[in-house]
Amino acid sequence: MRVLLVEDEVALAQTLRRGLVQEGFAVDLAHDGREGFWRARELPYDVLVLDLMLPLRNGYEVCRDLRAAGVWTPVLVLTAKDGEYDEVDALDLGADDFLTKPFSFPVLVARLHALVRRGAPERPVELRAGDLRLDPTTRRVHRGEEQVALTAREFALLHHLMRHRDEVVSKAQILDAVWDPHADTDPNVVEVYVRYLRRKIDVPFGRAAIQTVRGAGYRLAADGG
Ligand code: CA
Repeated sequence: MRVLLVEDEVALAQTLRRGLVQEGFAVDLAHDGREGFWRARELPYDVLVLDLMLPLRNGYEVCRDLRAAGVWTPVLVLTAKDGEYDEVDALDLGADDFLTKPFSFPVLVARLHALVRRGAPERPVELRAGDLRLDPTTRRVHRGEEQVALTAREFALLHHLMRHRDEVVSKAQILDAVWDPHADTDPNVVEVYVRYLRRKIDVPFGRAAIQTVRGAGYRLAADGG
């Protein structure tokens, strides 16, 4: 079994490699996201172990871009305990499993065996809320069977709301995620774009996926409204 370990903490990477070799894995190391992506795309691995916080290209980008490139090798993501990124996001981007550091080595080995057994079936990384679907790879949005055309900004807004479906997200969070955080953007622009979006994904279908939570922000209904 061949595993690619993408981890920039050299000491940790070496320790893991030694342990995995003893368990019968053939192990390649990459210490940054760019090399990790290149190896994972070009070489046949049975499983990838991918740290999220990496130089040059983070683990999120590596995972998303591999899926977009049609590479379906199972991915186990290593997340840091400070939770700057969360595992839900990693799974949204096409990872298969995650472990929070520090983790126990036997647990890592067991998870890797499980992933290798499962193999690399193609599967969508699209986000769903009821019959509302968003595919980050093809950048397509569907309501039921009907495709909905969105501008780039509307798409980014819907993507953010769907990644946080069922949560209240404030206008400030949306501004940060969807608009240039360094620009002095008028927060009212969020309202304007929410209105645009409703006219495309809700109104024509007699639905209400995007709910206004007075004084707090917006919430995308998990059932699609
Ligand atoms: Ca790291």
